[in-house]
Amino acid sequence: MKVPELLAPAGDMDRLKIALAYGADAVYLGGKIFGLRAFAENFSAAELAEACRYAHDRQRKVYVTVNMFPHNEEIRQLPDFLRLLAEIGCDAILVADPGVFRTARKIVPELPVHISTQANTTNWQSALFWQEQGASRIVLARELSLSEIREIRQRVSLELECFVHGAMCVSYSGRCLMSAYMTGREANRGECAQPCRWRYALVEEKRPGQYFPVAEDERGTYILNSRDLCLLDDLPALAAAGVESFKIEGRMKSVHYLATVVRVYRAALNRLAADPDGYAPPAEWRDELEKIASRGYTTGFFHGPPAENMQEYDTVRVLPEWEYSGLVRQWDASRGLALVEQRNHMQLGDAIEILRPNGAIFRQRLEYMTDANGTPIERAPHPQQLIWLQLAESVGDFSLIRRQRRN
Ligand code: SF4
Repeated sequence: MKVPELLAPAGDMDRLKIALAYGADAVYLGGKIFGLRAFAENFSAAELAEACRYAHDRQRKVYVTVNMFPHNEEIRQLPDFLRLLAEIGCDAILVADPGVFRTARKIVPELPVHISTQANTTNWQSALFWQEQGASRIVLARELSLSEIREIRQRVSLELECFVHGAMCVSYSGRCLMSAYMTGREANRGECAQPCRWRYALVEEKRPGQYFPVAEDERGTYILNSRDLCLLDDLPALAAAGVESFKIEGRMKSVHYLATVVRVYRAALNRLAADPDGYAPPAEWRDELEKIASRGYTTGFFHGPPAENMQEYDTVRVLPEWEYSGLVRQWDASRGLALVEQRNHMQLGDAIEILRPNGAIFRQRLEYMTDANGTPIERAPHPQQLIWLQLAESVGDFSLIRRQRRN
């Protein structure tokens, strides 16, 4: 069995470096135009070139999203953007709109095209259609079961990519007008305000201001609130089905989210490669995924139509016990001190954990800390400042600190 590629999101250059440091084989990212995720930082032309250089130097790949549905005015800018992507040597573009696809095949036929999940490919005829048009890969819709994926695999030869982790929509992957209707921010342009996670009530037209609670059952009112996808247990089946690329969702997610999720799935794929028949995710992987913000986890449509446990009824978000606190910028081995760019407040006595790209996570109490000038401090309340922390083991570039929340 060929071990699939691990594909991670990169909202900006920092997150690209983190994704690759923690073990992604490839990243997907957007330019300033044409890629969904309007609120991710995204990459300028120069940054796109730098991203490709950086990844290729490490034998990794970069896929650029060109997956919005442009209007006439926007499509005029497309040829120049596509030529730029071909020139800088990105490894593929992700496309959803047939007009963008057609333009890409004419202008930059050498550039491989992956069909975005926004195209909602849910059957083998659609997959065959895209194959016949010259696409080299399809990102399958999240709304497919394993048996459907298997059948598509048997009927087409182009590469298949599947989401294995991340947020789900309650509509078909962003094909949803709720946000545009309620806030003017369009999901299909990457601007979704996620109103499906909001709390709703019922109002009778002659009783304005009286809100009657809405509940699907006795547990709650978050009627549209999908849990997040997690297929950690199902990776062997998905790999055996012949899927070439496992994708993590979340170009707007934090550095900590990215490092944690990529690290777990890298370990899982390494385990799968070493012992495909004995693969069994240890509890510590699941524990790691509980340390990042999520809405609880589900296997979505993978085992068939989702049951009621696909929805999170109790809360819009499961607050993790740990929070991201800082990024290591320098290690002073002689003093056992790390210079840390702070992301959340810390204080002496905190339980902290340190994630390292090439090493086990270690846990300790925070017992000594100074400001950037070396003056001992008890609290570091201001995010973004530089502080020195005494750590029990050595750390390097891209190591992260997280802290256990206090009650
Ligand atoms: S409102 Fe919810 S379902 Fe609709 S696109 Fe946004 S996240 Fe998806």
